[in-house]
Amino acid sequence: MNSHLHEPKEELDKRLARFEDSCRQKGLRVTQQRREIFRTVAQSSAHPSAESVFVAVRKKMPNVSLDTVYRTLASLEEMDLLMRVGLSSKARFDGDLRPHCHFVCTRCGEVYDIFPQPGEAPLPLPGGAREMGEVRQVNVQLRGICKKCQATK
Ligand SMILES: [Zn+2]
Ligand SMILES: [Zn+2]
Repeated sequence: MNSHLHEPKEELDKRLARFEDSCRQKGLRVTQQRREIFRTVAQSSAHPSAESVFVAVRKKMPNVSLDTVYRTLASLEEMDLLMRVGLSSKARFDGDLRPHCHFVCTRCGEVYDIFPQPGEAPLPLPGGAREMGEVRQVNVQLRGICKKCQATK
């Protein structure tokens, strides 16, 4: 993983604290494995796939299985600790819950972050949204062909 794709330490610490709080609230043990899987997603801004999380975690924990990684990512998603983004055939995971959109390339499956520009309102919700219940996460996904794929035709 490229170092420039690493989140700053304070942001990572915040995410790890949220992870530990949520586990405690759900009565889940903070196992080393669960923590390492979460940390791998939370420290990256590259939206890793389950497979690349597996490859990274296996370096530190050779006994981890791909199946465990899949199951753990699914449970972290249910706990609202990370989001599943990208194409359904090439799911990617995002530990950044700050409001932002994704641009998903339907050709290569790459997922790009789009953060609101300074002075822009962060993702306004449609008027009726709050009548549906409590909004905990906003997931806006734009789909198209990325510049890299456009350049290679
Ligand atoms: Zn592309
Ligand atoms: Zn993102």
